[in-house]
Amino acid sequence: MAADEVRRHNLGAVLERLHLAGPLSRSDLTKATGLNRSTIADLLAELTAVGLVEERPGAPGSGPGRPSPVVQVRPHRASVLAVELAVDSIAVATVGLGGHVYNLVRVARPRGRFSPEETVQDVAKLAGPLLDSLPADHSLVGVGVAVVGITRRSDGFVHLAPNLGWRDVPISAMLAGELDLGAPVLAANEADLGALAEHRRGRQPGIANLVYVSGEVGIGAGVIVDGKPLLGSAGYAGEAGHTLINPEGSVCRCGAIGCWETEAGEAALLRRAGVSEGAGRLSEVAERAAAGDERTLRAIADVGRWLGLGIGNLINLFNPDLVVLGGLYQRLFTFLEPSVLEGSAQRTLAAPGGMATIACSALGPDASLIGAAELVMSRVIADPASFDGPGVGERAGAREGAR
Ligand SMILES: [Zn+2]
Repeated sequence: MAADEVRRHNLGAVLERLHLAGPLSRSDLTKATGLNRSTIADLLAELTAVGLVEERPGAPGSGPGRPSPVVQVRPHRASVLAVELAVDSIAVATVGLGGHVYNLVRVARPRGRFSPEETVQDVAKLAGPLLDSLPADHSLVGVGVAVVGITRRSDGFVHLAPNLGWRDVPISAMLAGELDLGAPVLAANEADLGALAEHRRGRQPGIANLVYVSGEVGIGAGVIVDGKPLLGSAGYAGEAGHTLINPEGSVCRCGAIGCWETEAGEAALLRRAGVSEGAGRLSEVAERAAAGDERTLRAIADVGRWLGLGIGNLINLFNPDLVVLGGLYQRLFTFLEPSVLEGSAQRTLAAPGGMATIACSALGPDASLIGAAELVMSRVIADPASFDGPGVGERAGAREGAR
């Protein structure tokens, strides 16, 4: 590696540590990164100069000598607008470096009724007040968008979002136009971003091998291998919901027969439980299950077994240490867990099966939204020295110009 590459890498490593771990003393930062004290001092000087970190005097300790200064990120100097376009809701949040959530709003919306045009207008309406309430000297470094659909990473193009009724929607470009913030808009699949959030801020932060399985209407999976997201050539990897689980099964919305989500998705659960489809129906299932309704519990057990069989396939494929269940599976995890474990045990080989823990998301319903913020933060961390985010003045100017 050339010297400037080493420096960029080290700057990123220091910033990432502070972003994920929170305030650290200089000496703890030195230990955590394995870099020497004078290198750390140089790197911190550079990160301070671009406004991303600050130091304050450490509290006097019991040991001899001056206490080590405490280093922390300045959240507002790298702020992100995070957006989640889910089937039953839109969520928008302003998030700062260090994972600080300034504001978060989630609004329900009728299923399948909104065009891409209406959706980006709704996002802009929700985002305006949130952006206006950020600290005056904030820097907006980007917009991160989680989409429940097959999304090309390079330009945020949604090829297909069957549960939104969208096909070939350039969502990043549309949002960039509507928001007019002068900041990049990055979009990715919601399960991939759920996996990223779980990897960084979930149950076991930093865990190197993880599979995130998200149940919305369909099933999505995001995979982290050796600490890196598994994306495939364009970002389409992880469409586990459309892998074969039952050759004798029913026709999927994708046109194929017996896809995993036809047996373990929301529609299968509602059908088995005798609950009509639609937004909010899951609460009904959860209430009936909590009340001990037998048909509902049997339906959950059936779906859980199919879910477990598919998870077993994923465990055999990826050898994860942790499989995290999000979305509807997180909400119903207490009831699903026994049959999921049973189904998974039927499929997995002993060695990978014995290593994998199956758990529900610790981040709750906002995992993908947090992942959307992390997607943008990854860019800042990859090259902090080039950080020169548009200031609030420029943002205001950009919005002014649009009027
Ligand atoms: Zn399918």
